[in-house]
Amino acid sequence: MVTYGMLQAFLRGACELIFPDNCLLCRQFLNSRHQRQLCAHCLGSLEFNPTPLGRQSTNGSFAFDHAWSVCLYNEPAQKLLHAFKYNSKTSLSKTFVPLMIDFVDRFALPLQKFDLITPIPLHPVRRRERGYNQSALLSSGLSRHYGILHSEDLLIRQKQTSTQTELGAKQRWTNMEGAFRIKSSTDVEGKIVMLIDDLFTTGATVHSAAQALKTAGAARVGVLTFSITV
Ligand SMILES: [Zn+2]
Repeated sequence: MVTYGMLQAFLRGACELIFPDNCLLCRQFLNSRHQRQLCAHCLGSLEFNPTPLGRQSTNGSFAFDHAWSVCLYNEPAQKLLHAFKYNSKTSLSKTFVPLMIDFVDRFALPLQKFDLITPIPLHPVRRRERGYNQSALLSSGLSRHYGILHSEDLLIRQKQTSTQTELGAKQRWTNMEGAFRIKSSTDVEGKIVMLIDDLFTTGATVHSAAQALKTAGAARVGVLTFSITV
């Protein structure tokens, strides 16, 4: 069935083929296709995380073992992620994935130690409406680059949660309790799993997904997100 989200994504893709590239943020004409859809000025306005680590648990309450985030959630990152998630700008994965790879390589993060890589899933209803899962676009690109097995359907979002952005920190945790289950624990037992998401805010979403993975027998769970709130 063709959904509105799929149609919108198709039309945007068709427009990008017909019209020349402009910077996604300032609309300046790009004379090179190698600028990752951003002009040098806008690309430079993204603030990269000075350390590989994201927000760490101080009391051992996170179910994942570590979290890495590529850039800070400043205004340009917010605009890009909004377009990526809500405006069908799926081509942004071609901007984000190379930036994530640069980051992993710069800090020599041991991605090759992971057995499989999986995205935070959307609830099936939201996935149908949107036409794509933005985190799966990131995880599949990283999987191809590093040669790690991609398992897009490993986690199932069983709870249709309200949008996290409208909730306070405490509500975000309650909202995400029991949000995920594992399709088959035999795929997970003893495995080192890399979870991919677009944004790390309180960590409630990735914690809940990591908890489902650990309960199913995952040996270790790492998290990599494109952005992190400051
Ligand atoms: Zn620009």
